[in-house]
Amino acid sequence: MIVVTQNTYKCRLCGSEEYFLLLTGCKSSLGESYCLRKCKKCSFTTTYPIPAEETLKRCYNDSYWLSSKESASFLFKLLFFFRMRGILVELKRLIPRGGCVLDWGAGDGTWIRLIRRNGFEGWGFDQYAKIPNDKFLKQGTIETIKFPEHCFDAITCFHVLEHLTNPIDSVKKAMEMLKKGGIMIVEVPNIVSWGFEIFKGKWQPLEIPTHLNHFSLESLQKLFSIINNSEIVKVGFFSHRVSPSALALSLFPFFSPKKIRRIYDNKYPFFLMVIYLCVQLLFYPFAIIESLFKRGEVIRLYIRKTER
Ligand SMILES: [Zn+2]
Repeated sequence: MIVVTQNTYKCRLCGSEEYFLLLTGCKSSLGESYCLRKCKKCSFTTTYPIPAEETLKRCYNDSYWLSSKESASFLFKLLFFFRMRGILVELKRLIPRGGCVLDWGAGDGTWIRLIRRNGFEGWGFDQYAKIPNDKFLKQGTIETIKFPEHCFDAITCFHVLEHLTNPIDSVKKAMEMLKKGGIMIVEVPNIVSWGFEIFKGKWQPLEIPTHLNHFSLESLQKLFSIINNSEIVKVGFFSHRVSPSALALSLFPFFSPKKIRRIYDNKYPFFLMVIYLCVQLLFYPFAIIESLFKRGEVIRLYIRKTER
């Protein structure tokens, strides 16, 4: 079921009422048809129509997430450490030793456990994830979660903003939780990547309909220009965790973890995992080259909360 909540168009970022259709006939995993509307003024792109909460809940089913057995495996932990190592190094450079970090959209808490093992105090929350019995993980949204203001040295927010119905208000709320001088690290898929240019509706990070927003660097800069006391201090276009797999899955969607888990009783068989990892390696050079041209599969921003 699709719910049409906007009869007339109004850009969620700049309020402009003019758009053009970037893409039509995007099929969701449930077989529904959506289009992408791009604001003529600020380039912010949104999925239309907005899916009903009920539709979204069906999309965030068990196969959306890694099973706790998978995320506990040695291979997964090793790969996760390798892929997130760069961000850990940056965190250690940017915030005090032992600093307090909040992970917005924490999933099953794998990232929180890694940062805790690296000497930070880590907390996390997620709206849809099945939260294991972990006192550092809470279930909720940025609007409902209860943390004091000005208490975090850093907030990490990987692949969250594209899911939000009101990104401006949600990011403002997150920035209130940061200490002055604190850092927010944001990563989202890049709608002006070469991957999107090539694969269009088959580009894996589109994730219709769970992705309601589709950002470019321009629209992200617009978003943070609206948020008081924020300054973008670093921009990147590559993620070890996302970039090669986004390209691999756009060309070979069979390897999609969600599809494989549906077929193999919520598990990703080891032999298939090895093939999938080898396929990802083939896409590394392309993912690195496109990122050098600022057209990588993701945009990663480091934003500092200024003193003003
Ligand atoms: Zn706009």
